[in-house]
Amino acid sequence: MKIHTQAVHAGDRKKATDAVPVTTPIYTAASFSYDDIETTDRVFAHEVPGYAYSRYDNPTNHALEELLTTLESGAGSLACSTGMAALQIAILTALLDRRKKVLAATALYGATINLLLKVMEPFGIETSFVDITDVAAVRAAIEAERPGCVLMETVSNPVLRVGPLAELAAACREFNVALIVDNTFATPMLVRPLELGAHMVVHSLTKYLSGHGDVMGGAVIADEAHLPGLRQLSRTCGPTLGPFECYLAMRGIKTFPLRMERQCANAATVAKFLRSHSMVERIFYLDDPAHLDAATVGQLFPPGMFGAMVAFELMGAGTPEVFAFMNRLRLVVKATSLGDVHSMMLYPKMASHRDLSPKQRERMGIRDSLVRLSVGIEAAEDICADLDQALRG
Ligand SMILES: *Cc1c(COP(=O)(O)O)cnc(C)c1O
Repeated sequence: MKIHTQAVHAGDRKKATDAVPVTTPIYTAASFSYDDIETTDRVFAHEVPGYAYSRYDNPTNHALEELLTTLESGAGSLACSTGMAALQIAILTALLDRRKKVLAATALYGATINLLLKVMEPFGIETSFVDITDVAAVRAAIEAERPGCVLMETVSNPVLRVGPLAELAAACREFNVALIVDNTFATPMLVRPLELGAHMVVHSLTKYLSGHGDVMGGAVIADEAHLPGLRQLSRTCGPTLGPFECYLAMRGIKTFPLRMERQCANAATVAKFLRSHSMVERIFYLDDPAHLDAATVGQLFPPGMFGAMVAFELMGAGTPEVFAFMNRLRLVVKATSLGDVHSMMLYPKMASHRDLSPKQRERMGIRDSLVRLSVGIEAAEDICADLDQALRG
């Protein structure tokens, strides 16, 4: 054979030996071949399990998806390129054979609100909003609006409201409404919405699950009823996560429970410190017995674990004072995102909720003095010391 042919074929497409690699390899192959074309035919026809084309399925993706399905107690899952791609495909899946209408929680991630109002609505999918912590209001809205799905976050961003998941799921099931829960903030370590009656769970893998700030990804974990629709849409729309990212996400998830334990403990320490600080006007953290949803939190969360997101208002601060405070931070990283091993601070008005009108922000309880802290795995005393020096100015 000529060198041009050798360069393309030599050494490639070897079958693995009997030795099993201890971690899942990164399968970069776009497509898969079988010894006989009849097998390929049967794989395409779903008569036998197998891989054909990586937009449909890929061994590395499959490994991550099985892991996510297990963590969230689902029937199956789909790894997506980002959390937003996951949300989009989950909503489309829910509405495949239902009314093209979404009933959404008032308090949602900023980009999710944009997805609903600026992408879905122009394509004819309407959204109305409801306070998800008020079951009676949700029930009334379901009866009045007859939505195809309800969309909520386990813990809202950034002021940490928590809806009674099991009751909401029961109301949805009564009216054949799909319940989609964005579980990015709570993670399956704290709450598993599918066990409480939700139909689909969405994650930004970019956050706690991957946890190192070095990979973007998303996931939809579905119950038995919604899995075929999810797979069918995904084959056509192609929101698929690349195998390199799947590998990184899977690697990150191996230490996710350890990180989460540490981050929850650190967040409780930081919250206690901030509560007693003279430069802090108000703090939002789920361990607070006076929290508006304390009873629900007590039911949903494991004892003593309240997540690692802390939001607080700086005493009498406007935007310039918040900027000055953030510029004084030395350890806490000033950046968008959350859930990483390093502590990070974000100014919701400028970042996650930038595209919303002041009125929308006000309705969500996001004041100009509010900052959001994602507590990392560092030593808690070092995080507190950095916040203290920045607060004192
Ligand atoms: C970050 C985030 C998303 C979007 O995820 P990406 O991976 O950035 O697309 C959705 N929901 C919540 C709650 C998030 O924090």
